[in-house]
Amino acid sequence: MTKNNLPTCPACKKGHLHQAERIREFSPNGKSIQVTLLTTRCDQCSAEKTLASQQKENLARLAARKAHYGKLLMGEEILGIRKRYGLTQQNASTIFGKGIIAFSRYENEVTYPDDSTTLLLQLAIENPTIMKSLADKAGIELPLWAARCEDEQRVKVRSLTKVYDAAQASPRHQERYVQTGTAAHQVNNFAKVWFAHQVGTRQTMTLHDACNDGHLTAQRASAS
Ligand SMILES: [Zn+2]
Repeated sequence: MTKNNLPTCPACKKGHLHQAERIREFSPNGKSIQVTLLTTRCDQCSAEKTLASQQKENLARLAARKAHYGKLLMGEEILGIRKRYGLTQQNASTIFGKGIIAFSRYENEVTYPDDSTTLLLQLAIENPTIMKSLADKAGIELPLWAARCEDEQRVKVRSLTKVYDAAQASPRHQERYVQTGTAAHQVNNFAKVWFAHQVGTRQTMTLHDACNDGHLTAQRASAS
């Protein structure tokens, strides 16, 4: 590539940007893990700029290092749960019973949480109600709790609609569709019958109370 084809540096407007690499180091479980990240660097002023395509590749490379982590969480997973609920690092640390700078250290992987904290974080990532209970016990509000419940509701209605659409194609299933209530209830009722039919045993459906009917879960009753 000739210099004329290279983008001009937005910082100094004189130099040109060249593809360059940056190494980030992590040390989970005492191992040294190096991830090579892509960037562009100016040949005049050394300013760096990461292009969107490079950022995408970098995220994939960072995610791939998870293979070396065993049960440990990566910094961005810990950052992710904190951001998900709109918490400050300090409040997140309090919720998990840690010193105020703990989350800052976890997110930058200066240190890794101990086994029991890792387990608790993992459970909170997988189950929003655990996150809510821990926050309630610590007397800390989750600023984005309501927003997250709405997200869950949207995902659930979407997936139930998919089940409905799929089974609509089959007359055998269609006849079991209960045509009552609001659109959302129709989907719920339909899913209820559909799941029962699929499993072939008596089923009861319970509405999860945490998100005000956000989750529809199947409970297998004894096949008597
Ligand atoms: Zn420059």
